[in-house]
Amino acid sequence: MPDTRFIDPSIATWPGEAARLLGGRCDGCAVVTFPAPKGCPACGGGDVSQVELDPVGTVWTYTVQGFPPPAPPYLGPASPDTFRPFAVAYVDLGSVLVEGPVLGDPSSVRIDDPVRVVFPVLGQDQDGNDVVAFAFEPIEEGSHA
Ligand SMILES: [Zn+2]
Repeated sequence: MPDTRFIDPSIATWPGEAARLLGGRCDGCAVVTFPAPKGCPACGGGDVSQVELDPVGTVWTYTVQGFPPPAPPYLGPASPDTFRPFAVAYVDLGSVLVEGPVLGDPSSVRIDDPVRVVFPVLGQDQDGNDVVAFAFEPIEEGSHA
């Protein structure tokens, strides 16, 4: 029976209306990393606490993926007929930079654009299950959602 699953349950609180990405904050030096590391990459400390990341941030930098990435991990349409270029951004969530795809027209993405974390179905696995991953969605000017 096909189902819906999240690509990696350790990186977010999905499912839920207000799902958040989960990072790790070092108990020693407070550096936040995403995904949560086993040990702190900054100070080498072993005590890292799970933290929910801010769901809203700004584009720090980005590039446009002009051809299908290797699958897996890529989930989307990969044939030349169905693939569409998309933006991949490093988004500044305040405490940490998170890399992810940006939904919508890649030519409209700009550095410093406000974006929010969303959890769309990005593809299907070999068993026909819908696979949900995280992505960033531009926040329209004047939107207060
Ligand atoms: Zn540390």
